[in-house]
Amino acid sequence: MIRLNDILDGIHSYLPDTDTSLIEKAYIYSAKVHAGQTRLSGEPYLSHCLATAYILAQLHLDLASIAAGLLHDTVEDTLASLKELEDMFGKDVAQIVDGVTKLSRISFESQIQKQAENTRKMVLAMSKDIRVLLVKLADRLHNMRTLEYQKDNKKVKIARETLDIYAPLAGRLGIGWIKSELEDLAFLHIYPEEHQRLRKEVDARLGEAKAYVDEVKDLIAKKMDDFGLSCEVVGRPKHIYSIFRKMRTRKIPLEEVYDLIAFRIIMKSAKDCYEALGIVHSLWKPIPGRFKDYISLPKTNMYQSLHTTVIGPQGKRMEIQIRTEQMDLVANQGIAAHWLYKEGKIVSKDNKHQFDWLFELTEWQKELDDPREFIESVKMDLFHNEVYVFSPKGEVYEFPRGATPIDFAYAIHTEVGNHCAGAKVNGRIVPLKYQFNNGETVEIITSDKHFPNRDWLKFVKTSRARARIRQWIKNTERQNSLALGRDLCAREFKRHRLDFNDFMKNKGAEIAEALSFKTPDDMLIAAGYGKIAPSQIIRKLRAGQPEEQEPKEKESKTKKFTEKVEQEGILIHGLNDILIHLGRCCTPIPGDEVVGYITRGRGVTVHRENCANIKKLDPDRRVEVTWANTDNTTYPARIRVSAVDQKGILAAVSNAISAGEANILEAKVSTTPDYLAILDFVVDVKDRPQLRKILSSIRRLENVKLAKRVSPG
Ligand code: MN
Repeated sequence: MIRLNDILDGIHSYLPDTDTSLIEKAYIYSAKVHAGQTRLSGEPYLSHCLATAYILAQLHLDLASIAAGLLHDTVEDTLASLKELEDMFGKDVAQIVDGVTKLSRISFESQIQKQAENTRKMVLAMSKDIRVLLVKLADRLHNMRTLEYQKDNKKVKIARETLDIYAPLAGRLGIGWIKSELEDLAFLHIYPEEHQRLRKEVDARLGEAKAYVDEVKDLIAKKMDDFGLSCEVVGRPKHIYSIFRKMRTRKIPLEEVYDLIAFRIIMKSAKDCYEALGIVHSLWKPIPGRFKDYISLPKTNMYQSLHTTVIGPQGKRMEIQIRTEQMDLVANQGIAAHWLYKEGKIVSKDNKHQFDWLFELTEWQKELDDPREFIESVKMDLFHNEVYVFSPKGEVYEFPRGATPIDFAYAIHTEVGNHCAGAKVNGRIVPLKYQFNNGETVEIITSDKHFPNRDWLKFVKTSRARARIRQWIKNTERQNSLALGRDLCAREFKRHRLDFNDFMKNKGAEIAEALSFKTPDDMLIAAGYGKIAPSQIIRKLRAGQPEEQEPKEKESKTKKFTEKVEQEGILIHGLNDILIHLGRCCTPIPGDEVVGYITRGRGVTVHRENCANIKKLDPDRRVEVTWANTDNTTYPARIRVSAVDQKGILAAVSNAISAGEANILEAKVSTTPDYLAILDFVVDVKDRPQLRKILSSIRRLENVKLAKRVSPG
């Protein structure tokens, strides 16, 4: 079992004069809150916290990370609170523990391999501070080392998750030794028999190869010495999972895995590395196509090295890696190696990749004097443009940040999007414009009665959702306009005593073409949109034929103002640019609940919802309408005032209306037998609040008994 002193010794090896009281305090606190808890192994729970912290010290991390390592399970498994941690150990430590706790609460149940990459990204995105991920990796490494105590079904699940998610992440961060160890441990538990058999075979072959390895090492060392280069040669067996993976992917037996032993030559400088490469190639014949220069083109995880494969003694293939001490450290410690070095150009900017942030980190590093400042400033601004959520089945979906349930619904299927009625996030109903957070589980509620809404376009984030919504609106508008256009035309034809159906059958295509439409339907749609008048179609039909007198339209008394408000201020659900007028029966104004009615031949009429007329009309021809932004538009409203019939009462009421900034369109006065004056007005107002104000100022007038809006019907 690791002891506190092992951790402190580890820290002092790379931070010689540091005050480690934070670590000691964290140790005491962790021991206190975990007291009495044991691991499945029977050891006290604290042993896990110590082991995790020790791994972090091996990674040469800063004190906050190591303290967080000691405390990483306190919030999840004990009565400790984040607030308490923050008060005792500072914000940094508390935030790292919080991040690790959040990661631990998500279980990556998904067995779907292709989801692994997204899941890895999600883990990265959730680890806003890179130290969160490093603590999580240390935690997982110790859990894997003690996995034998878990129950069988849990064992495989944890090992699988390690292989799919955490080992690759360790690789991404360039921490080679954690990656290899995690892979080997996962291999052991997922494929115990294969592991045992392969271990035996590999050990046997390594035993046979010992003399060979020594021969190669001596040869290289001697040759380098001849050229005046100092070096260190290491011959190390490949880790067992990488051998297993190679055999699997290439479908080859162990005998054909040539590079069981990787030779590594550690040089003093990059220049020496290239010289050493020349020497190796002069000793043994290189295999074409196997040379890789990761010194001038580092891998995205900052790995640098020269790789070559040669035909060595006894005609055996050997893989040789050549690099400097510093590169070797980076190869093992990855990102964790970075705050150990102030100098040294580790990374070139050319190798742009999806992990650009790694390069940025090294860029920052150059600007910082104290290497410890580096780790403190490493806030992982990675994938800040993305958000990752789960489906109820555990699949991971990637979205742009700010994505909503509508985006999710369209990502599943267009039909799901087109009927999206609501959503649940982590089991709770949320508004459709809710913006996802990482790791949430999203469930879409659909309904046959729900359809896309133009408003959705204001908050969806994916281009897929936007395109599908637009398409739906366009299709619906077309259908509505077609129906409306057909109605308008049929009516106009009837007025001219022409047979519309017969026209469509026999002359429709011809006339449509003459009016520059592709199809007769397009012509009707244009009529529905109000772009052409049905009378134009009739004129075209009669072109060349003797003129006939147009039947005269009856003049409407209120035409003056209905014309004015036509087309203005009303949005029809799914319709654009069509003839609209406001019902004269109920004169709706903005703020009123309204419904639209597709008339036969007169476009859409808008009524107040409680209008008696609309209730009598065919419900199938109703359309949803809403008020648009009505900046400068005014609407007629009918009001009735009862007052004691006295001189000047009309003037007083008129003044009150004008003071309320409304125009009077009509005014009518009558008297009742009991000497009351009834004043009926049609006034032009912007909306309900304005009308309400005017009515209350009229009510305040002397002698006014009653002032009210004339209710519909
Ligand atoms: Mn743990």
